[in-house]
Amino acid sequence: MPDLLLHLIVPLVALLLFYDRRCRTYILLLSPLAILPDIDHLGSGDFARMWLHNIFVLLPPLFVGAYAYKTGQKKAYSIALIAVLYLGSHMLLDMFQGGISLFYPVIGYNYAVACELLMRNQDITPNIAFTASMPSRNPGLKQDVISSVTVAIAVVFVFIAALRELLARRS
Ligand SMILES: [Zn+2]
Repeated sequence: MPDLLLHLIVPLVALLLFYDRRCRTYILLLSPLAILPDIDHLGSGDFARMWLHNIFVLLPPLFVGAYAYKTGQKKAYSIALIAVLYLGSHMLLDMFQGGISLFYPVIGYNYAVACELLMRNQDITPNIAFTASMPSRNPGLKQDVISSVTVAIAVVFVFIAALRELLARRS
């Protein structure tokens, strides 16, 4: 589980940088969706990390987006797309950090992706793997909700964003 701050800042910054600037208010207002699926962690036993960590969570905003697109409602289309991007980024980040039950409740397997370079002594070994396995029971281990590295990343983003605003006001 990437920590909450990472789930929030990665899609938030990406949307603020690359999405339509006229949608900044919606991007900010919908940002809690980026951490919403982690309500699952409040559960226990076999259901932890399943109910809101699957592809079916994306269906309601996808349907709304498709309907809005078909009927030409640009604002509703943008809002639905932002919701899909926030929820989808959560799934993607978690797939690279232990995996998720992507098709729960239809298929109970946990899908995980590993994509890393491992260094041992002077050997560098790539580790690229996709695994599907039965999820382990909730071990109840202590996990970082917010880690020091993520706080540092957030500080860098905020600093750059503040600098950008400052420079934009001067010009
Ligand atoms: Zn999660």
